[in-house]
Amino acid sequence: MPQVAPPTTPHTGADGEPLRVLLASPRGFCAGVERAIRIVEEALEQCGAPVYVRHEIVHNVHVIARLKAMGAVFIDDIDDAPDDRPLILSAHGSARAIHENAERRGLRLVDATCPLVLKVHNRARRLTERGYHIILIGHHGHQEVTGTLGQVPANKMSLVANVIDVESLDLPEDARGGPIAYVTQTTLSVDETSAIIEALKARFPDIHGPDAADICYATSNRQDAIRAIAPQSDLVIVIGSQSSSNSRRMVEVARDHGAKKAILIDGPDGFDWSCLEGVANLGLSSGASVPEDLVEGFLEALAGRRTFSIEPVEVASETISFKMPPSLKAAV
Ligand code: SF4
Repeated sequence: MPQVAPPTTPHTGADGEPLRVLLASPRGFCAGVERAIRIVEEALEQCGAPVYVRHEIVHNVHVIARLKAMGAVFIDDIDDAPDDRPLILSAHGSARAIHENAERRGLRLVDATCPLVLKVHNRARRLTERGYHIILIGHHGHQEVTGTLGQVPANKMSLVANVIDVESLDLPEDARGGPIAYVTQTTLSVDETSAIIEALKARFPDIHGPDAADICYATSNRQDAIRAIAPQSDLVIVIGSQSSSNSRRMVEVARDHGAKKAILIDGPDGFDWSCLEGVANLGLSSGASVPEDLVEGFLEALAGRRTFSIEPVEVASETISFKMPPSLKAAV
């Protein structure tokens, strides 16, 4: 059961009705994002700028802008990385071909892939070696999905994004009649993924899968917290970037679980405050790649406009942290 703390003293604001802010917890940075950002910061500290990073290290425009200002250079193609500077691979995971290319060139490679994404990679590779064809549940074009697809030969893994894809899935000829397994992207909607897994089990009764989907603890906890606040909210605001899969899923979960309206915003800057007209109960959360100062900044900006009280709604406490990669010292 979610714990709802008693309301804090109302903040005095400008004109307007008092607003009740339901502040979801857990929210913001997960362990994988914290580790990835720390890897870039430590690489910059130990080697100086520039340090090259393939793809946005995490999907948040504010984090990227800060690291760029410190000397990180974000590239899409590792051919743009010079031989004599460290190259960091983003938290979302990269295809085997990227690692092999970097190793061939002798680049000083540091892998910031989240350990929970690596777990999915390792399972996909192990199952393929045992003769399984893998069905990956995920969103076309997302970096994590591209990285997971790139763990095994192209004809050994198929991608489905929804139940319709499952129904129309055409397995490669050499996979028909053979063993099939599924893995999932880590940042999906828990509800939507359960429906896709059910559809897979209906079509392939012997399909092999993890006990639960590969959706990570941080994604599940943030969605659970949204589920707890949504039914009481006239509006749910999720702070996060458009490129962030887990933030976008939080908005969908809010809409599916009773919020009258749910929106994704980058932060307080540029926010259209007229959205709060007529709102008495505001749900507030942030995605797994969002620094807490954006939530604090939003509440500070709100204090100048409305009188409000904060009710923290906590559904879980998180204590997970991940070790830094052993390759960091050697590489930098
Ligand atoms: Fe890792 Fe989950 Fe965070 Fe992604 S959202 S970086 S899988 S902990």
